Amino acid sequence: SRSRPCKVDAVSAKLQAVRGMNDVLPEEAALWRAFQALVEDWLERWGYRAIRMPLVENTTLFRRAIGEATDIVEKEMYSWRDELNAEELTLRPEGTASCVRAAIEHNLLYDGPKRLWYGGPMYRHERPQRGRYREFYQYGAEALGYAGPDVDAELIVMCARLWPELGLNGIRLELNSIGSAAERALHRAELIRHLQANEAQLDADARRRLQSNPLRVLDSKNPAVQEVAAKAPLLASYLGEASRAHFDGLKKLLAAAGVEFTINPRLVRGLDYYNLTVFEWISDALGAQGTVCGGGRYDGLFAQLGGKPASGAGFAMGCERLVALIKDSGNAPVARQPDAYVLHQGEGTLEYAFSVADALRAAGHPVVLHAGGGGFKSQMKKADASGAWVALIVGEDELRANQISAKPLRKAGEQQRIGRGRLVAEFAATLNRARS
Ligand code: ATP
Ligand code: MG
Repeated sequence: SRSRPCKVDAVSAKLQAVRGMNDVLPEEAALWRAFQALVEDWLERWGYRAIRMPLVENTTLFRRAIGEATDIVEKEMYSWRDELNAEELTLRPEGTASCVRAAIEHNLLYDGPKRLWYGGPMYRHERPQRGRYREFYQYGAEALGYAGPDVDAELIVMCARLWPELGLNGIRLELNSIGSAAERALHRAELIRHLQANEAQLDADARRRLQSNPLRVLDSKNPAVQEVAAKAPLLASYLGEASRAHFDGLKKLLAAAGVEFTINPRLVRGLDYYNLTVFEWISDALGAQGTVCGGGRYDGLFAQLGGKPASGAGFAMGCERLVALIKDSGNAPVARQPDAYVLHQGEGTLEYAFSVADALRAAGHPVVLHAGGGGFKSQMKKADASGAWVALIVGEDELRANQISAKPLRKAGEQQRIGRGRLVAEFAATLNRARS
């Protein structure tokens, strides 16, 4: 068994985040927020509607959906036994299984097909490295109940349109068709023969999968195994007429939309549920972990999870890899600066400053109210460092006159008095001058 004693630290030991799970600090969190807002808006614009699933599911769901002889199920899942309810549970390693489970459980397709999206953390016990973490974020889109290549094309074209919106270029598309289960069965015998003939060059994973899941061997990241995979018989020559027609339909729609692709006959993807279309979006700027988005069709999954048979197709994109690309692109959005930083000094000025900040926030302005005391000089330094456009100054003078002094911080300009009674209108005018 894999069970080992827990590491127990002395009370004095420094506490750190769990390996492979990252804090996102404020500067980068601002970029994430901008990224998420854009992606979520884009998903809705393409007609996909949000669905939210739990982070924890019954382990059986993933074993059945993803497949036993896959990296995820064999070695990457965070699974445990919940003794309180005698249940075997798992932190979700991906979203498609949960999404289809939810669609079956709530009979979501009762009145027709559905386009759905979700976003959030996924968990896989991998070796942490650049672009590969144990907690990572994905956005997923799933088109449920559509059988034709039109939604395959839609899922791909929508990604093609997203990259430039994110300020990214150089993300290329690889495409393949892995046919139907019957076609893969025909190919399988010849593939096994080829792998057996080259068994000496295979690693332990590949040797184990040779019988259980030989197609998965083509997905190996081990260069020696890849060499064997490169000479393996191609699935493409086993595709029947219906599979070829589906693939041709997709290629035609992509061409019409002006989306370029390369056919990668060895692209099979890491999960078992796929059939027909599989695709990956890859950046060469990320090193070994270059796939930013992967997806395909999974027409067998509904039945496999005990639902009424229904078609499905979708993709999942890795947010950390995309955020890294945006960071490197130089087009990273910056955090919104506060419109005002409110300074105060003297008897009764804090209450007054509170009400000023309150009124401006109610009018929609981001406002920072100085906290922690100190003189005007040191407060002004903090106002400057905050990035605010305008410093609003409240001293005993201003309090007596029922006014506020306003000073532009990002350009030369005179300090002016604003009347408390016309605060919102006069501040808006001051802000305009300070930003123009
Ligand atoms: P890989 O071949 O890189 O292991 P995968 O086939 O396991 O990828 P999918 O399950 O298809 O990946 O997940 C879709 C996307 O999610 C990937 O293309 C990648 O961008 C991202 N992703 C997958 N695993 C991780 C991880 N451990 N850390 C960060 N991002 C990940
Ligand atoms: Mg993986």
